[in-house]
Amino acid sequence: MAGGASNIAAMKTLAADSGPSPFITQRHDWRLAEVEALFELPFMDLLFRAQQVHRAFHAPNRVQMSTLLSIKTGGCPEDCGYCPQSIHYDTGVARDDMLPVEQVVETARKAQAAGATRFCMGAAFRSPKKKDIERIATMIREVNALGLETCATLGMLTPDQAQEVHAFIRGKLAALDAAVAEKVQILYGGSMNPGNAAELLAMPDIDGGLIGGASLKPADFLAIGKAANA
Ligand code: SF4
Repeated sequence: MAGGASNIAAMKTLAADSGPSPFITQRHDWRLAEVEALFELPFMDLLFRAQQVHRAFHAPNRVQMSTLLSIKTGGCPEDCGYCPQSIHYDTGVARDDMLPVEQVVETARKAQAAGATRFCMGAAFRSPKKKDIERIATMIREVNALGLETCATLGMLTPDQAQEVHAFIRGKLAALDAAVAEKVQILYGGSMNPGNAAELLAMPDIDGGLIGGASLKPADFLAIGKAANA
């Protein structure tokens, strides 16, 4: 899973939904040297620029409260090198089975009562099995039915698998409300990189991505941005 992934706004979504702003001009013609120069800015300058973008598109002092729950902890066969959930290291993290749906929904209910409006479910495995996907889809549907926005981080999928999962989720939502299912943006939370971004983002039910490690490498991030706006 990409549990530590930074949440970059879905680029397809941003491109499609953001109106013109008096402060920020949308560009799709970034050059590598320009992106690298941004990455080299002193932190406070970067913070200032980020605030300008934020204030152009969002209420300046509104923060969304989100809760993240690990629905399947430890025992991951992958070796990401930094993660205590990998079986390759003795870190003291328990190897748990996936939580029951009822427990996840109850935790989401408590999070909502504590002020959260978004609930994220993260699972530690390299990639989910079909039975995992079905159970997770039920969790997403039931948590969403509470009135919470949902997201999930579920490990690596092939573009076809990712499309299948996204279509499954959209289909489940459509059974509840066709208009919401049509409009809702479902973001891919696996490892999006320059090698798979174009194929993933071309899928009809993949509306954007959560960019993790690639967001720290200007060339990779730029390539994903280009794929999103192709
Ligand atoms: S894939 Fe496994 S080892 Fe890598 S970050 Fe996710 S849980 Fe940790």
